[in-house]
Amino acid sequence: MDCIFCKIANKEIPSTIVYEDDEIIAFNDVNPEAPVHILVIPKKHISSLDAAMPEDEQLLGRILLTIQKIAREQGIAEAGYRVVNNCGELGGQTVHHMHFHLLGGREMLWPAG
Ligand code: AMP
Repeated sequence: MDCIFCKIANKEIPSTIVYEDDEIIAFNDVNPEAPVHILVIPKKHISSLDAAMPEDEQLLGRILLTIQKIAREQGIAEAGYRVVNNCGELGGQTVHHMHFHLLGGREMLWPAG
C-alpha cells in the first residue's frame, strides 16, 4: 500500500521516533507548527477516524493514553497541550492514515482555523 505513514511505521522511510510499541508509533512532524509537534498513529492502517471500527475501541483508547504519556515525557503536560485529529477533506486531513497531532510548548489559539 502506498501510504507514507505505513512506510514510517515499517521503517521504510526515516522519521524521528519518540515512542513505539507493538501497536502504536509516534514521531516528530516534519513541518512542526509548535515547539513540540508529534504525530501519534496506529501501526495498523486505518485511513481516518471516520474509518475506525468498533473493534478499534481499545486501540483508540490506548492512543489517547499514549499521547498523555508522551506529553508528560516531553515536559508539556503541566503547562498544557493540544491534541488534534483532522478527519476527511473539510477536516483538513492530508495524510490518509489516521493520526493525532500532539502540539505543545506554546499557547494555542482558539477557534482553530
Ligand atoms: P494532516 O494534515 O492532519 O493530515 O497532517 C499530516 C501531517 O503529516 C502534516 O502535519 C505533515 O507535516 C506531516 N507529515 C507529512 N509527511 C511526513 C513525514 N514524512 N514525516 C513526518 N511528518 C510528516
